Amino acid sequence: MRLSLVVPAAGTGSRMGTTVSKPWLVLAGAPILEHTLRAFRGCEGLDEVVVAAPAEREADLHALMARALPGVAWRRVDGGAERMHSVRSALAATTAGNRLVAVHDAVRPFVSAEAVERVRAAAERHGAAVPAIPVADTIKTIGPGGTVALTLERGGLRAVQTPQIFHRDLLARAYAAAPEGNPPTDDAALVEAIGHPVLLVDGDPLNLKLTYPQDLRMAEQRLAQSQDLRIGYGYDVHRLAPGRRLVLGGVEIPHSSGLDGHSDADVLLHAVTDALLGALGLGDIGTHFPDTASVNKDRDSREFLRGAAVLIRERGYRVGNIDATLVAEKPKILPHVPLMCARIAEDVGIPADRVSVKATTNERMGFIGREEGMTAMATALLIRD
Ligand code: MG
Repeated sequence: MRLSLVVPAAGTGSRMGTTVSKPWLVLAGAPILEHTLRAFRGCEGLDEVVVAAPAEREADLHALMARALPGVAWRRVDGGAERMHSVRSALAATTAGNRLVAVHDAVRPFVSAEAVERVRAAAERHGAAVPAIPVADTIKTIGPGGTVALTLERGGLRAVQTPQIFHRDLLARAYAAAPEGNPPTDDAALVEAIGHPVLLVDGDPLNLKLTYPQDLRMAEQRLAQSQDLRIGYGYDVHRLAPGRRLVLGGVEIPHSSGLDGHSDADVLLHAVTDALLGALGLGDIGTHFPDTASVNKDRDSREFLRGAAVLIRERGYRVGNIDATLVAEKPKILPHVPLMCARIAEDVGIPADRVSVKATTNERMGFIGREEGMTAMATALLIRD
C-alpha cells in the first residue's frame, strides 16, 4: 500500500531549554528533523510527507526535504497548539484513499529501517500497529506526600514509540471522534478509543525521543560516529590575459584583464570542483571535462561544479562544507564574495553559510604579485548519506 508520512514539527524547545524549536536544532551538521526524515529513505510505499510546521519554516523545509528525501512529494501545514491538532491538520492534507498513514515524532532520528518495516507490514494487515519495547525500569505510581501508591507489574507494560502506522480511513475516523479536551500523548490512543485493536510490534530501544538537553549530547555523538567523512583538496592556477572576461566563483568581475583558459577559466571554481572530485578519488576536472573537448570551449565553469555535485550524489554523499582561498593581486574581491558563496552553494545544493570564500593578495611577490596570473585552493568535506 502507498504510505503517507505525517510529522508534527511545530513544538517548542521548552524542555530543551532552547529558543529554537527542537526539530530545528542542528546536530552533526543537520537539523534533527532532517536526520529523522532521512531514516525513512527507502521505506516501502512512501510517496508523500506532510510536515506540520510554522509558515516561516517553509524555505528551510524545502531545502531540508530535497536533502533528506529527494523525489518524495511533500507539503507543509500549520501546526496547532497541541500535538494532536498538528497531526489532525497534517492528516487532512494527506492524499485521500486506501493507503497507510505513518505518524512519526520529529525528534526520533534513530528509528531503524527494520523497525519501520515491522510496523508498516503489521499495519497493512491489521489496520493499526505501533512499535513498543519492554520497560526496563520498575514503574510505580505516586501517592500522597511523594510516597509510592502502587508498584505496577512490569511484565505487562510496554513503552510505545513511533512511527505509529494506520490505515488512513481508520485514523481519520479516530480523529473525527476524538474529544477536544484532554488530548492523548499518542495517536494509537484515539484508535483504541473507537474500539479498533492496535497491534504492538517490536520497537527498538535505540529509537529514542530526544527530549532533554543531555539527550542532544548523546545524539550528536551517535550521529557523528555513524558518519563516513571524506576530505578533498583542490588547487588551480591560470594566467591573466588582456581581452578576456574575469570570472571568479561564478561571478563576472569588471577588470582590465581576465583569466586565460579553454573554458571561462574560473580558477576558483576549478579548485572547488577538484576538491569535490578529489574527496571521492574521482580524478580531477580534466578527467571529466577535458580541455581537448570542443564542448568545453568557453564553457561556464559552474557546469563543471554542478557535474561534480551530481557525481557525489550518485555515490551517496553530500557536501558538508567548502572552504576556498583565491590569491590575486587585483581587483578587490571582497565585495563579490557573498554572491560567489551563494552561487557555489546553489550549484552543490547546500546552504550558503556552508561555503567560505577568502581572498588574499600575494604582497606583490612572484607571478601573482606581477599580475601575471591567479591561483586558488579549496578544501571540501563530504558526508555519506
Ligand atoms: Mg583550471
